[in-house]
Amino acid sequence: MPDTILVVEDEAPVARGLEYGLKAEGFAVVVAPNGKKALEAARSAHPRLVLLDVRLPDMSGFDVCRTMREEGMTLPIIMVTARDEEVDKVLGLELGADDYVVKPFSLRELVSRVRAALRRAYGELSSADGPASIRFGEVVVDLQSMRVERKGATVPLTPTEYRLLRHLVTNPDQVFGRESLLETVWGYDSSVDSQRTVDVHVRHLREKLEDDPASPRWFITVRGAGYRFSPKGE
Ligand code: CA
Repeated sequence: MPDTILVVEDEAPVARGLEYGLKAEGFAVVVAPNGKKALEAARSAHPRLVLLDVRLPDMSGFDVCRTMREEGMTLPIIMVTARDEEVDKVLGLELGADDYVVKPFSLRELVSRVRAALRRAYGELSSADGPASIRFGEVVVDLQSMRVERKGATVPLTPTEYRLLRHLVTNPDQVFGRESLLETVWGYDSSVDSQRTVDVHVRHLREKLEDDPASPRWFITVRGAGYRFSPKGE
């Protein structure tokens, strides 16, 4: 099944061009002409990635991005910006966007950004094999929709937190060093050079998912080695 890309763009000729170009590259495309429709489509059409124009008639792309994250959607979002100050905003605000492109851009550039974001988000893990969801304690990680619930309520995670969580829970009882996690979760092209980043993200996962983050049951520190997910709880 092709990956569905949600294209959020109010200018019809631009939207048509993107739809045509992405379909030619083997993607399925859903187009939304405004923020409200974009949120509806993101909830119902299960896209694998969102291409999100910053300037929309009803609300800004920044607000759409923020709302998607608040609703617990962890799929990759690429912002489409028109000016440098918008780029500053994408980078400066902690919106939870994964990447951005500046108009005008070539289709080739866009497609390579899309593929890179999909690779980072879904990696080698195909949704076709493996379990659909993983449970531990009162937490459910839905690997299809990429949503995480605890005690029945959606837990908002950043895309990086989700990737780290997915990597740990799909490899139970394996010990991963910080370097290995940086490479797998953050990617080779990451500018992250500090292994402390891994510690901070593990701490965030504990705070969001453990009953007592100070004495974790699921996300275990292995002294001198790294981290391990304990599927039965310590
Ligand atoms: Ca626009």
